[in-house]
Amino acid sequence: MTEMMKTAVLVGPEKLETKSVPVPEMKAGDIRIRVSACGVCGSDIHMWKTEHGWNPKHTGDFWMGHEFCGVVEDPGTSHFKAGDRVVFWANLYCGECDMCRAGLEHLCRSVNGTNYIGFVCCGAYAEKFVGPARLAYKLPDAVTDTDAALIDPLMVAYHAVRKSGLKLHDKVLVVGSGIIAQMMGELAKRAGASYVAM
Ligand SMILES: [Zn+2]
Ligand SMILES: [Zn+2]
Repeated sequence: MTEMMKTAVLVGPEKLETKSVPVPEMKAGDIRIRVSACGVCGSDIHMWKTEHGWNPKHTGDFWMGHEFCGVVEDPGTSHFKAGDRVVFWANLYCGECDMCRAGLEHLCRSVNGTNYIGFVCCGAYAEKFVGPARLAYKLPDAVTDTDAALIDPLMVAYHAVRKSGLKLHDKVLVVGSGIIAQMMGELAKRAGASYVAM
């Protein structure tokens, strides 16, 4: 019998509906997790409002969710073990282009700013998630599930603060005050900013 799971399917503008759907099948290199926590991102709100993901060719039910963690149920052929807690990076980078090879997977040529889990394919607003093991990272016990669901926006803020070249006692202006801006302000303080304005 097909194993089923509950998901929050986007069924219309500003409309999510709980549906039972088959658990996605694993492909080579995939792992299956039971989702523990999933963030709601500003870009989810955009998709929720417009009723569409980013893949015009997607057919069938679509559910969002790209900031998530969970517990490995089936590690496939990966180095993970059942019971490991993992967080996923939603970026479906190719791993082969010049950008990926230079360690700049966020600028992957085939991603082009759009190829993300929960945008072009179904995400983790679901009980289970199946995806490439190479995008999963093992979580230390000290990081809670809800904290782990914030790793995706946190890495955006961390990257920005690092790129800013911030030095000890610098004064910092963060333009905006959303979740990522809040994180940037906090990280700037921790990096030694003497003053943070938003
Ligand atoms: Zn996001
Ligand atoms: Zn690439």
